[in-house]
Amino acid sequence: MLVTGGAGFIGSHFADLMGEARVTVLDKLTYAGDKDNVPGHADLVVGDICDRELLRAVVPGHDLVVNFAAESHVDRSIEDPAAFVRTNVLGVESLMRACLEAGVPRVVHVSTDEVYGSIDSGSWTEDAPLAPNSPYAASKASGDLIALSYFRTYGLPVMITRGANTYGPRQYPEKIIPLFLKLLRNGEPVPLYGDGAHVREWLHVEDHCRAVRLVAERGEPGEVYHVGGTTELTNRRLTELLLAATGRDWDLVRQAPDRKAHDRRYSLDDARLRALGYAPMVEFAEGLERLTS
Ligand code: NAD
Repeated sequence: MLVTGGAGFIGSHFADLMGEARVTVLDKLTYAGDKDNVPGHADLVVGDICDRELLRAVVPGHDLVVNFAAESHVDRSIEDPAAFVRTNVLGVESLMRACLEAGVPRVVHVSTDEVYGSIDSGSWTEDAPLAPNSPYAASKASGDLIALSYFRTYGLPVMITRGANTYGPRQYPEKIIPLFLKLLRNGEPVPLYGDGAHVREWLHVEDHCRAVRLVAERGEPGEVYHVGGTTELTNRRLTELLLAATGRDWDLVRQAPDRKAHDRRYSLDDARLRALGYAPMVEFAEGLERLTS
């Protein structure tokens, strides 16, 4: 199988999980990618999913392609949206085209709950309208639509997963959990956006990867599958848990100006995935304990 973005956070855990398979990782090794994340059983090709010629050489012969390659940090997308459009939209198109030309029998494109915008109560099903707010979310929504168009127009057997906020080892320390843990361990202050009342549901990276594997094995082409989290937390409550885990207190918390267009709450209904047999295995308390012990 080919795992694009497999030197990043979730993609490298997915390559780990597929230990018995022959795995090729294709990764541009941006700031977020690290070749040391790539497991020993995988072959690493350093390259860009926007490079059509490279894809034409690498993609043929794979039974499964799973796309994790992305620009993934909302704050960076607010600074430089163009990089996000390039990889998350144009790159997805190049990859879908290469998969179609090579006749790849199963393709999974990994996406995010952020494509729906914000929801005050209840949970989104996969039929909810896309209403992204940040350039990151808009680029992911666009990539999803391109991938689905390859199913509807050309019959490419592609499935999409949309996962909740994911955490675990090897996450780049720009996302809230690894950033706060790094700062708190050093006794440095942490920036809490706005009133801290933004709500996220948290998904352990191993559960996220098990869900993607299940969709790769049993998903219906052309379908979208949600991967919900196990625990819903405000950023304020999450900060309290991270302070407790590192033995620090509120003296180290600084209120930062809120992120532009900051979504208040995400929540996914993942009944469709559960009907395939999915159940998360890592509760948040356990996942956090594993990260901090
Ligand atoms: P990450 O930023 O840790 O890793 C992304 C990887 O993609 C890096 O190794 C990077 O080098 C590589 N990459 C970037 N641009 C590339 C390009 N043009 N060509 C080839 N490789 C390129 O991201 P992550 O957190 O592991 O996220 C993986 C996927 O999961 C993304 O599509 C993201 O939208 C999605 N997702 C992430 C989360 C989360 O909380 N982290 C939640 C839901 C969905």
